[in-house]
Amino acid sequence: MENKLNTENKPALIEDNVVVTMDYELTVDGEIVDSSTDGDPIVFLQGAEQIARGLEKAIYGLKEGDEKQVVVAPADGYGEYDPEALVEVARSEFPADFPLEPGLEITVHSDENDEELEDEMMEATVVEVGKFVVKLDFNHPLAGKTLNFKIKIVDLREATQEEIEHGHVHGDEDEDVFEFEDEDFDELEEE
Ligand code: ZN
Repeated sequence: MENKLNTENKPALIEDNVVVTMDYELTVDGEIVDSSTDGDPIVFLQGAEQIARGLEKAIYGLKEGDEKQVVVAPADGYGEYDPEALVEVARSEFPADFPLEPGLEITVHSDENDEELEDEMMEATVVEVGKFVVKLDFNHPLAGKTLNFKIKIVDLREATQEEIEHGHVHGDEDEDVFEFEDEDFDELEEE
């Protein structure tokens, strides 16, 4: 850490517009469902709502090296389970060779003619596959769940002005989410 440039600009603690590198282990219903212990900590911009709201709130003021257990209620995590987010879609909306099966998680692109929803993508889980109708669940798989995080702050740095304007971190794979080649994305920011 002594070798880092601009150490005088290194934030002492977590506040808005600090880029946080964090190790985490997420336990739900007594089971570890996600973890960065394979050496792949998450990197995010504090205050930009890139992580669960309850977790973001709980880490303000932490320093590098700090560890903490954080319990996040569904409302501050992935939301309450919404029965209305179960949606039936015509089987014909999917390509004939699309490997539809219950449990499959898919990304649904919103209607390109709907300007309000432009470049919006939504995750859904296939619940049921009928001959003519497919039932999709747009609830997050962790909706309605209490999240138990065990976290460790690995690194803090100041965000660049560009990162603050974009509301996310640059220089890692986070931007790869926009991997779809689609005219709809022409207006997306450029690096
Ligand atoms: Zn950006």
